[in-house]
Amino acid sequence: MSHNLFETFAARIRDRGDADFITTREGRRYSYADTLAASARLAGALVELGVAPGNRVAVQVDKSPEAILLYLACLRVGGVYLPLNTGYTADEIRYFLADAEPALFVCRPAALEEARVVAADTGCPAVETLGTDADGSLMEKAERATPRHDIVELGKRDLAAILYTSGTTGRSKGAMLTHDNLGSNATTLVKAWRFSAKDRLIHALPIFHTHGLFVGCNVTLMAGSSMLFLPKFDADVIFEELPRGSVMMGVPTFYTRLVQDERLTPEVTANMRLFVSGSAPLTAETHQAFEARTGHAILERYGMTETNMNLSNPYDGERRAGTVGMPLPGVEYRITDRETHEPVPQGEIGMLEIRGPNVFIGYWRLPEKTREELLDDGFFVTGDLATVDEHGYVHIVGRAKDLVISGGYNVYPKEIEQLIDELEGVVESAVVGLPHPDFGEGVTAVVVPRADADLDETGVLGALQGKLAKYKQPKRVFFTDSLPRNTMGKVQKNELRKQYQDIYR
Ligand code: ATP
Ligand code: MG
Repeated sequence: MSHNLFETFAARIRDRGDADFITTREGRRYSYADTLAASARLAGALVELGVAPGNRVAVQVDKSPEAILLYLACLRVGGVYLPLNTGYTADEIRYFLADAEPALFVCRPAALEEARVVAADTGCPAVETLGTDADGSLMEKAERATPRHDIVELGKRDLAAILYTSGTTGRSKGAMLTHDNLGSNATTLVKAWRFSAKDRLIHALPIFHTHGLFVGCNVTLMAGSSMLFLPKFDADVIFEELPRGSVMMGVPTFYTRLVQDERLTPEVTANMRLFVSGSAPLTAETHQAFEARTGHAILERYGMTETNMNLSNPYDGERRAGTVGMPLPGVEYRITDRETHEPVPQGEIGMLEIRGPNVFIGYWRLPEKTREELLDDGFFVTGDLATVDEHGYVHIVGRAKDLVISGGYNVYPKEIEQLIDELEGVVESAVVGLPHPDFGEGVTAVVVPRADADLDETGVLGALQGKLAKYKQPKRVFFTDSLPRNTMGKVQKNELRKQYQDIYR
């Protein structure tokens, strides 16, 4: 039996014929039948460009339906799809091309010259372009190529993709994902979230990250449903489209923006059956505010580049604010002591470890990192700290790398951030540990105040007294206009630690 994921997709695609797969607001449309034909032409172009099974195809392009067709073409010919964040600069791309050694680099038309230089420097033999209007040299080649209607036979460990992690805690690592990894997770999510051919997904996420690419697109293909491709999140557009959609997947900032908008009502969301949130923590306040305004409880789930989705709040049953729910069918988790990997007692905080058919097979060219994080018994050490409540719902407490140890005591930043965020005049906050001569690390808060707020360090410290044990109280509070975020919108605490590293020395 071939493990090529495109076999499964092709069966679905043939069933759905002329039904919509991807549409855009500009009136572009690919039916399922179009998808089969266009991906065969692109597959022909890939083969003519020298892409053989196992070769990487690196892609840094703006979001378009054709980028998804390219992903599908890559699966068909056994290539390894390697999408790159559109925010990466030429120097960053140089690192990724040198690391991944792709057979082909597909870039934006405007970036061709720069891309040629980087490709030449890193030994990448071919560069093509893909624009957002079905334009670019790759599309021209596909028009002229002999279509490849076959689907390359693949084995159990063959890679479908190398997806680089978001680089929130350090340099991005390439996660090697097999066809089976992606297929099993999409099948599980279709069932867990009750996807069917009737669904229409409002797709406003980027497609270089696991959320928008694999969760959004693979689930749509598996279910034979359709998606509206939006270039980015724009509240005006979302409010126009909500009455014609059935599902939306978003990062927490989508929801924090929607709840600040008076257009968010039960009426405008009446046609929607599901709102999903993930990639970063959704605050309990946003969850509750969204439900109060619309009657919809956002379904928060937890996943990562290395594993696709692991834990999810239930479709039926209570979706608990501030939790990421239970393991998806086929996924196992345990919460362990960081040194011994032995489970900690229920209710205690420990390292979250995951095992299942969704878990990747290792980091690209980082055998040591792979050995540290993929244990012999198959569990993957996520790097996230978690605890499970008495109802079986998992709470993500934060990243192990962000844990503060002050005077020998563990301090979990999230607990302090939540209290600071509740203060009048605070937009958001981040708590980090900084080198301290007496305590090892000093608890430090960085706060973003509202423009009109009347806040100072003494005020914030005073407000926390009595609410937190002494050892958890920040030693210093700093104010800033915004927190440093990476291109996925995640707060980069290592940047904050660097910026304030000397304040206690
Ligand atoms: P890097 O591994 O390069 O530092 P990253 O971990 O941010 O970057 P991703 O794989 O994109 O890269 O993100 C996965 C991480 O996102 C998880 O490990 C977790 O910390 C966080 N995350 C995802 N979903 C949730 C959620 N629902 N609640 C809290 N955190 C979440
Ligand atoms: Mg990570």
